[in-house]
Amino acid sequence: MIGPMQITSLKHDLANCQLCKTRFKETHTGHAPRPVVWFNKSARVLIAGQAPGARVHESGKPFTDPSGDRLRDWMGVDDTTFYDQSHVAILPMAFCFPGYNAKGSDLPPPPICAKTWRAPILEQLPDIRLTLLIGGYAQKYHLGKTAPNVTDTVAAWRNYAPAIIPLPHPSWRNTGWVKRNPWFETDLLPALKSRVKEALAP
Ligand code: SF4
Repeated sequence: MIGPMQITSLKHDLANCQLCKTRFKETHTGHAPRPVVWFNKSARVLIAGQAPGARVHESGKPFTDPSGDRLRDWMGVDDTTFYDQSHVAILPMAFCFPGYNAKGSDLPPPPICAKTWRAPILEQLPDIRLTLLIGGYAQKYHLGKTAPNVTDTVAAWRNYAPAIIPLPHPSWRNTGWVKRNPWFETDLLPALKSRVKEALAP
């Protein structure tokens, strides 16, 4: 059993991680690692995302961007609830902004991040009641072969509920996807809101 001292030291080590220093230096953005650390032992909802974007790299706080506004809307929670680390843990597949490629698109999360950090951190979160898997990287990691692609995985959300709900990334890039899949707003989102409420209830 790992105690509070160990979770503090794990968070400290993660906050100071420099494993991708060289990789990030070589990206188009040439930035330095800045892990965004956001979890506490008592968390009941786990948001498993992809990686911070450029705006979150600046703010040091997860989902401080239009994707975050949309995700909060999907979940039916306000900023205070969303950012209460004692209730909501936010663990992306990479804790740092991976940088842009030459075309200005976000690079994928470096696999070394999940390999190094994910299992030890998840061990520290024994009270998770609901896991939201946002996008293909988190879905592949947590669901393995049962997650063929984002659309099929999200369409099969009932197979994973109530403990897990897969979601597309809440980026504006997926506005067309949401329109093409009306069941997402009519069926999945009401179920998501109600599961979030249940999982956060005392
Ligand atoms: S992305 Fe992960 S592994 Fe890479 S420097 Fe950041 S915290 Fe470390």
